Amino acid sequence: MPAATHSTGTATVVGGGPAGLMAAETMAAAGFAVTVYEHKSSFARKFILAGRGGLNITHSEPLDRLLARYGPERKFLESAIRSFDSEQLRGWCKELGEPTFVGTSGRVFPDSFKATPLLRAWLQRLDAMGVDFRPLHRWLGWNSHVEGRGLLFSSPLEQQFEVSSDVTVFALGGASWPRVGSDGSWVDRFVDQGITVNHLRPTNCGLVVSWTSVMVEKFAGVPLKNVVVSVGDERSRGDVMVTASGLEGGPIYALSRAARAELDFNARCIVGVDLQPDLTFSQLWERLEQRRRPKDSLSTLLRRSGFDPVAVGLMREAMSNELPTSEMGLASLAKLVPVLVTGLMPIDRAISTAGGVAFDEVDQNFMLHKLPGVFVAGEMLDWEAPTGGYLLQASLSIGVAAGRGAIEWLSTSR
Ligand SMILES: Cc1cc2nc3c(=O)[nH]c(=O)nc-3n(C[C@H](O)[C@H](O)[C@H](O)COP(=O)(O)OP(=O)(O)OC[C@H]3O[C@@H](n4cnc5c(N)ncnc54)[C@H](O)[C@@H]3O)c2cc1C
Repeated sequence: MPAATHSTGTATVVGGGPAGLMAAETMAAAGFAVTVYEHKSSFARKFILAGRGGLNITHSEPLDRLLARYGPERKFLESAIRSFDSEQLRGWCKELGEPTFVGTSGRVFPDSFKATPLLRAWLQRLDAMGVDFRPLHRWLGWNSHVEGRGLLFSSPLEQQFEVSSDVTVFALGGASWPRVGSDGSWVDRFVDQGITVNHLRPTNCGLVVSWTSVMVEKFAGVPLKNVVVSVGDERSRGDVMVTASGLEGGPIYALSRAARAELDFNARCIVGVDLQPDLTFSQLWERLEQRRRPKDSLSTLLRRSGFDPVAVGLMREAMSNELPTSEMGLASLAKLVPVLVTGLMPIDRAISTAGGVAFDEVDQNFMLHKLPGVFVAGEMLDWEAPTGGYLLQASLSIGVAAGRGAIEWLSTSR
């Protein structure tokens, strides 16, 4: 854990996900009496959910490339991520008895490929540091305007009670997968305080396509293997899953920001699918010519030329079942099959959330201008990033930065 200046004070952390727990650790390390309130019966449930995929905790690429993944919000996050970067994060995991390894794509995972051992060790460490955990405590809002310190909670024992402390860190998450805890219900309470919160929307999510019944019956649940998908200039490669209601999978999630912008502008979006990314248009055209037999149907020709049935199905779907008959026509379609997307899949199944507390509302330490002594951390803030470990990296780095900001603010305001 990065060193912090020693001072004492009382801190309330609202939300026991990775960002909140990291802020708690930072402040407890500086001698603060920290209490973490969490409305679920256990902590960091989304972190545990992320562990089902192996817990991709950060990425090993050079820092500048990693920072570029945060797009236009990089400028707000850079200082926090530089101060607790991927190397420091990996060191922190190791200290907790969970060393990490770099996977083939550069993604970083704990050796155990799980979240539970890391979380268990982390909670034990926080407990040993004196952090007071209050599960089943739901934050309801503020009681008064007095510097945002009168926090109202409910618990199984008390319908409503008030808590105040020297500093508060909110880390209530976004609104994806509400069943594991973060449901976005904090938004109205923040707006009531005059704080701008940009609309919470799905990101790293699937895209809605109105397939014909033929496509659904034959190919729902079948992956399009090794394709390149694109929206405008954005491209992403890998396996894409055809589902009954659209397209899912890593390459699609990577395009969701670009697709959202296009949908906002045009109410529709075309995703291009390159079914043969390892061949140029001319190579594919040549291959089709070479492999054609006089009596071949178009489907047989395509299958003999390396197309899976689902790929042929996608080409037929895009052309209302009227495939081009020339090799040149087939090659140009296969290099860019247009798929009409009409929306984003609902936020409750998205990996993460776009929107949140506007960066204009916080200072460089993530303290709310309108509520001095009150900090905001993690996915509650209006940033987004692709999958690849960037979400946890930023959430944890902001947790450290907000915790340090709270320590600094209290020492200067006293
Ligand atoms: C299926 C899935 C897989 C993922 N995999 C990865 C991955 O491999 N790598 C990666 O980098 N990211 C991954 N993520 C994203 C990552 O988990 C989140 O970005 C991260 O958890 C955000 O941390 P946070 O602390 O800001 O918010 P959260 O983890 O959402 O924590 C917020 C906490 O606040 C609590 N809370 C909410 N409202 C209240 C209230 N009113 N009172 C009290 N408590 C409240 C919630 O219960 C929750 O515990 C994944 C997400 C999903 C859904």
